[in-house]
Amino acid sequence: MSTTEDYYTILGVSKTASQDEIKKNYRKLAMQYHPDRNPGDKDAEAKFKDINEAYEVLKDEQKRAAYDRYGHQAFANGMGGAGANPFDGFDFTGSGFADVFSDIFSEFTGQGRSSRKRSYAERGDDVRYDITLTLEEAFAGLEKEISITTSKACETCHGHGTADGKEPPVCQTCNGTGKIRTQQGGFFVFETTCPQCRGTGHVVLEKCKECKGTGKEKIDKSLKIKIPAGIENGTRMRVAGEGEVGKNGGPKGDLYVFISVKHHDTFERDGADLFYEQPISMAKAALGGSFKLKGIDGEDIDVDIKAGTQPFDKIRLKGKGMRYMNSDKRGDLYVQFKVVIPTKLTSEQKECLKKFEESSSEEEKSFWSKFLG
Ligand SMILES: [Zn+2]
Ligand SMILES: [Zn+2]
Repeated sequence: MSTTEDYYTILGVSKTASQDEIKKNYRKLAMQYHPDRNPGDKDAEAKFKDINEAYEVLKDEQKRAAYDRYGHQAFANGMGGAGANPFDGFDFTGSGFADVFSDIFSEFTGQGRSSRKRSYAERGDDVRYDITLTLEEAFAGLEKEISITTSKACETCHGHGTADGKEPPVCQTCNGTGKIRTQQGGFFVFETTCPQCRGTGHVVLEKCKECKGTGKEKIDKSLKIKIPAGIENGTRMRVAGEGEVGKNGGPKGDLYVFISVKHHDTFERDGADLFYEQPISMAKAALGGSFKLKGIDGEDIDVDIKAGTQPFDKIRLKGKGMRYMNSDKRGDLYVQFKVVIPTKLTSEQKECLKKFEESSSEEEKSFWSKFLG
């Protein structure tokens, strides 16, 4: 007994508290003062011990009744001592405490109870496959036959990896849980991975010679992959269940198809929109005109150039962009004009431009004079 404080006070409950209330308060306090949450804090550690001591008594109706009658005196010679202690062998390292603690422990770590037998089945690995598409292919979508290297269960051992082809025996060291629990100082239960089976819960005594104990066999497989129209660069497509075989009845892994879309010579893409730059002469920019452009779907598009088009003017061609995935809708095509100023002029052209300059207003003159010198 380390504390002389009243057990009810320690747990913050009344003398008539129900077992539920006691348990509830105990959990709350144990969490609060747990050494993992208060590293190096001696007071918290002492408090944590008191809480556990109080709970150990109050959770047991018999011990609680004795405590109610005799107070701390009921356990004065405790810890395995004989004599006045009516409850021989009561101590904190007993299994009762460990069980309570493991409940608490799982609340801390968010893991379930570790005493459960570990499932021997393992999910198969995922398989990756890379596909590079042209922008036209990404626009239209396509079906592609691909061949992947994956695995199936080893025929010799039926996927168990054992020489006899049967499920390997349960590990004796950890009883199949894959974990070893040790108690230190009577308070802390540590869990470590079982060194015998490395956490699998089973021990393969003799490995299958065919697969060297892996339980799987490599196979080449061809698959038809449907790539939807409008797919974006960097998309990862998951094909469920086409990955490697699982172990011991575990589910198959998945196939992940990584899509890269090649850079296009003509179009820049941004989502469902396309961008295109069209060089035009300064005469065309001033007078207007038109040109033909091959769209991403192969269609010929007539593009109008408005008279008086300025450098970097942009027009939007609605619905001429990429397809939205899983939709009939299309994004837009933006055409930007790049007005090209000639660097070499014939004497005839120079004459024309000079005449043009003379007929222009002052404002226009200063603009053209930049180019004509
Ligand atoms: Zn083991
Ligand atoms: Zn095998």
